[in-house]
Amino acid sequence: MKNWKENVRRVVPYVPGEQPKDTNIIKLNTNENPYPPSPFVLKAINSLGNESNRRYPDPTSDKLVKALADFHGVGSDRVFVGVGSDDVLGMIFMTFFNSEKDVLFADVTYSFYPVWCEMLRINYREIPLDDDFKIRKEDYMVENGGIVIANPNAPTGIIMNKNDLIDIIEANSDSIVVVDEAYIDFAREGQSCLDLLDKYDNLIVVRTFSKSRSLAGLRIGYAISSAEIIKLINDVKYSYNSYTMNSLQIEGGSASVSDNDYFRSMIKKVVETRERTTKELEALGFEVLPSSTNFIFAKHNKISGTEIFEYLKDNKIYVRHFNQERIMDYLRITIGTDEEMDSLIRSIKVLLDKKADI
Ligand code: PMP
Repeated sequence: MKNWKENVRRVVPYVPGEQPKDTNIIKLNTNENPYPPSPFVLKAINSLGNESNRRYPDPTSDKLVKALADFHGVGSDRVFVGVGSDDVLGMIFMTFFNSEKDVLFADVTYSFYPVWCEMLRINYREIPLDDDFKIRKEDYMVENGGIVIANPNAPTGIIMNKNDLIDIIEANSDSIVVVDEAYIDFAREGQSCLDLLDKYDNLIVVRTFSKSRSLAGLRIGYAISSAEIIKLINDVKYSYNSYTMNSLQIEGGSASVSDNDYFRSMIKKVVETRERTTKELEALGFEVLPSSTNFIFAKHNKISGTEIFEYLKDNKIYVRHFNQERIMDYLRITIGTDEEMDSLIRSIKVLLDKKADI
């Protein structure tokens, strides 16, 4: 073996959902929003001249940071922005998880968490969710090097009882607790942890523009915490790459934040479609976990997850299937437009009819 091969940082990478080239597909596999972003976004991006290509972008992303700070009613020194929440989470892992003790997260949660830990050589422990796919707060009241909770969780869609989450944050005042709120805009009001930030200085809340703001392609995520914590994340970011955010993200992102009416109305549409689709799937024999997100996690009472997944794929409907113990029979179905969900239901009905004939 060549010597350099002994020194490689070998990693098993995160596998994102498929992005098919074929545009004739109903794509319900990566939790994208079926509706376009606010028209303000394209207008802002189009107004950028070529000068913004020639120059470096603002390394502090001031405009976007200020828009988010105003939107959430916090100071600009309490907001960190990154290239999607993946970048933000990666920076947070790098900054705060340097202990010999295990960082804790659920066994069924966002599958990028263990990948960052492996890559950054962070000790971690995956804690089994209970039989109803819920977090038991007591499991997180043990020694640890940090805690990460996706709330609502992915791929289950389940949101935690807020008082339980508060108990975890309170019991872990010596650890950083990261709450990944990628899907929180699709949950009932009052479930976010943002209002806890003034009380708990160990809390970091992470958000994304990819789902509720329909901007997965622009790649924008952010964290809100204390000024002290945000400075520490920025110190690591500037030690790694000063210019993570480009001009399109800064201008387009700020424009999205300025259009709150549009934002609210798109979320409402997705939630209505989610509720309707849930009922229809239940009527077809699916068990659907209670979703507070823009996707549903469901399993059929007779047919395996793999079979439904393959059948839908053959019929040009892509959903997500995880070949992972405990969730093998579930499908994660992103909420699309009403028409897309009608096609999904129709297709599943055909499969069920076929199976009934056998
Ligand atoms: N957190 C969770 C729980 C997610 O499901 C995702 C989407 N893959 C992300 C973070 C990252 O999203 P993005 O990088 O697009 O902001």
